[in-house]
Amino acid sequence: MTELISKVPEGPLELKWSKHKADIKVVSPANKRKMEIIVIGTGLGGASAAASLGELGYNVKVFCISDSPRRAHSIAAQGGINAAKNYQNDNDSVYRLFYDTIKGGDYRSREANVYRLAEVSNNIIDQCVAQGVPFARDYGGLLDNRSFGGAQVSRTFYARGQTGQQLLLGAYAALNRAVANGKVKSYPRHEMLDLVLINGEAKGIIARNLTNGKIERFGAHAVVLASGGYGNTYFLSTNAMNSNGSAAWQCYKKGAFFANPCFAQIHPTCIPIHGDQQSKLTLMSESLRNDGRIWVPKKLEDAKKLQEGKIKGSQIPEEDRDYYLERRYPAFGNLVPRDVASRAAKERCDAGYGVNNTGKAVFLDFQDAFKRLGREVVDARYGNLFDMYKEITDVDPHEEPMMIYPAIHYTMGGLWVDYNLMTTIPGLYAIGEANFSDHGGNRLGASALMQGLADGYFILPYTIGDYLASKFKEPKTDVNAPEFEAAEKAVQAKIDKLMNIKGKKTVDAFHKELGHIMWEYVGMARNKAGLEKAIELIQALKKDFWSNVYVAGETGVFNQELEKALRVADFLEIGELMARDALDRNESCGGHFREEMQTEEGETKRDDVNYMYVAAWEYKGDNVKPELHKEPLKFEFAHVATRNYKD
Ligand SMILES: Cc1cc2nc3c(=O)[nH]c(=O)nc-3n(C[C@H](O)[C@H](O)[C@H](O)COP(=O)(O)OP(=O)(O)OC[C@H]3O[C@@H](n4cnc5c(N)ncnc54)[C@H](O)[C@@H]3O)c2cc1C
Repeated sequence: MTELISKVPEGPLELKWSKHKADIKVVSPANKRKMEIIVIGTGLGGASAAASLGELGYNVKVFCISDSPRRAHSIAAQGGINAAKNYQNDNDSVYRLFYDTIKGGDYRSREANVYRLAEVSNNIIDQCVAQGVPFARDYGGLLDNRSFGGAQVSRTFYARGQTGQQLLLGAYAALNRAVANGKVKSYPRHEMLDLVLINGEAKGIIARNLTNGKIERFGAHAVVLASGGYGNTYFLSTNAMNSNGSAAWQCYKKGAFFANPCFAQIHPTCIPIHGDQQSKLTLMSESLRNDGRIWVPKKLEDAKKLQEGKIKGSQIPEEDRDYYLERRYPAFGNLVPRDVASRAAKERCDAGYGVNNTGKAVFLDFQDAFKRLGREVVDARYGNLFDMYKEITDVDPHEEPMMIYPAIHYTMGGLWVDYNLMTTIPGLYAIGEANFSDHGGNRLGASALMQGLADGYFILPYTIGDYLASKFKEPKTDVNAPEFEAAEKAVQAKIDKLMNIKGKKTVDAFHKELGHIMWEYVGMARNKAGLEKAIELIQALKKDFWSNVYVAGETGVFNQELEKALRVADFLEIGELMARDALDRNESCGGHFREEMQTEEGETKRDDVNYMYVAAWEYKGDNVKPELHKEPLKFEFAHVATRNYKD
């Protein structure tokens, strides 16, 4: 049985990373010039890693599926990025950011990793400012901050509602500098379809050139996966349409363990679903909870009138409004973590207090903020989000409260990695949302950008040297090796099989059906019977897919239906593993809410005795039950307690 060795260094928490850096090996500049690294993905994780590795002197090949690296999904990030700078003088610190993140994740993440993340958070801001990222500034010219959920300090740096875009432009500029210097070669519109192992080590990939449909081989001394999360397993999510879990899934099938797949984040502030024909959900940034107040009517008859369209939210008097987050969680109010806010919205809607025609919406109201701060100030903070909301719903948030409802947004699970960010396959690294990350059972807002950039700018460039230091004598990987031949053949065979089914159902129909199963049984509330049913239903759907899907078009050309089909084939398997993991974890923690495990007040009930571990799943073959490995979590520095956002 493979043992999970986290490689967390010994010693005091605050010295672990410095000590580790001093202990690991480095590669000399002359040897870096001889070595090749493949990076999959150009989001904040991949772009920052590729740029940094190129700057260090390695020869990097970077791949993405979009037509330009700067169109990665990271560009959608709105609200901000956390760092423990304490610019507000509100008593923030590296320790407080560490502690909030551990607590926010419901004590299901590794202490040492989270502390390191908090430690390097400040470097990220300096790096990005040096690149020219236009963070918001206060009147005196200093960088401004706002608050995000799960924190009582203001530590979120932002660029209006476009933080991801501005950070990605910074990383993209750094990447282009390395491209111009000849150290990075960029392969846009190239989709990795398999990982190639030689003697058990990651040595390359098979990719499909999406423009002309050709299958190509690429070799390297190491491979870095920065391919993002698998939230689109649910079909409807806030993720970009192209976001997918396939690259990670290919690695899983080659031996990389998949950790905590059931930890999916449901974001409380999304524009509610409005119909059957929808294929995308829109996020309204968490930053809005700084000044917006969430409420539903106190009286069921008012809710009914709202549902029937007989009255508008603005017509309900103040005394008849239930600001339920402020009522239930007075210490954090509207800024409770996402899992808590999402469940509270569901609870109110399930009780009949929903405010739109489907009964699945609550209000997010800015009238108090307009009165307190003035419209100009509020618009300066959130203007583009207000415009976006109005464009989509035709309702002006200046006149009527916004309507919001929880939706799938982010996946905390991903490839298992050790402290060096290496997976269980030697030479294969995973960074950003693609790894099982530092967020435990629930990620705090504005911490994904922090983690992706921490991994790419400040962690991987150090730790990858430790592995490569013993590889510099190895020649360049030969893409004519039999392992490449076999992998390419397998990829081609899978494509041919899909194309030849010529069934009756579209790829989207399967994806939508999977999404319904996932939302119903592996969504905001889960239980044993439902999860068992989900596994059965997904297995049946998978069977149907492989005998009845219709993929239009040809193989050796541009074919977006084929691209989708390959990804949906993987989503079907990812969905099953998520359900399996959720079934195994018979406790409620973070975003994973098992109905069997709740307090009388409907709050999550953890089981630290039996489940304080990272669940890492090992692939054992198609249609064979995967094997569960457990990495126990030890808390030496953070006090483990029931999460409390009330006092
Ligand atoms: C609407 C929205 C708003 C958000 N706002 C915030 C926020 O304010 N603050 C915050 O901290 N987080 C936010 N997040 C989360 C955050 O944006 C993501 O977690 C983060 O950007 C992920 O970065 P990444 O580099 O890991 O992956 P991504 O940005 O998803 O990039 C993945 C890359 O991999 C490539 N790729 C994928 N598969 C393949 C393949 N098979 N072959 C080749 N290339 C491949 C893609 O082309 C892409 O370049 C938000 C998320 C959403 C959906």
